[in-house]
Amino acid sequence: MTLPAHPTPPADLLVLEGVRKRYNIGLPNEAEVLHGLSLSIGRGEFVALIGPSGSGKSTLLNIVGLLERMTSGSYRIEGEEMFGLDDAALTQRRRASLGFVFQFHHLLPAFNALENVTLPALMREGRVSPAQRERARAVLAAVGLGDAMNKRPGELSGGMQQRVAIARALVLEPPLVLADEPTGNLDTASSNEVFALMRRMHAELNTSFLVVTHDPRLAARCDRVLELVDGQLVSDGPPKAASA
Ligand code: ADP
Repeated sequence: MTLPAHPTPPADLLVLEGVRKRYNIGLPNEAEVLHGLSLSIGRGEFVALIGPSGSGKSTLLNIVGLLERMTSGSYRIEGEEMFGLDDAALTQRRRASLGFVFQFHHLLPAFNALENVTLPALMREGRVSPAQRERARAVLAAVGLGDAMNKRPGELSGGMQQRVAIARALVLEPPLVLADEPTGNLDTASSNEVFALMRRMHAELNTSFLVVTHDPRLAARCDRVLELVDGQLVSDGPPKAASA
């Protein structure tokens, strides 16, 4: 038996085929907002998702994030079909494969930064092992918050809160992080800093990122830009040269 000359190329991390989403099915206001969308994202890609308000970006991100179900189509993560899985299986897959960063950080206000960053381990396994606590400390140090681990979100600036949220999204080293307007609530300086941090963590961990943004300057700093208009993908490629 001969061994293959080249290792098999890594499969796409996620593959969507013909994904449709309809809201209010059977009601007078039934509406289809994603019209048979197909795309794939490979390991280690840093992808922006842009498009006008109402074009379906959040809906798509929620489907990719397994927070919402598609109406029809196929969505595979690491080769496993998500369509038709029950809630428990979807939750398990979400905790295993996905990290989230939202516009508003969604940190728990009564917990300090370290406790917030250990939450994904607590949710996934029901406890936080000493090794996981150490890992959370290391990730917080890596995002520049080594001295702020015992501070609660209310004691941190907006940019620092978002850095805690990024640490929380990355602590279990998911293959994919989904970010919905992660800098939308920040001033320009903090926004640049938080975006630069995401790029650095991407480079260090080879985590894939899918980032919804309406900021063309941020999209221009991604490797690939998906553009959605009226629930359809109208372009997919490297960013156009920033005009700003
Ligand atoms: P974007 O994130 O690009 O602004 P959305 O995904 O939020 O777009 O919305 C796409 C379309 O779907 C919009 O027309 C919006 O009104 C509609 N929509 C979003 N969520 C719901 C919902 N839960 N029920 C009904 N319509 C919805």
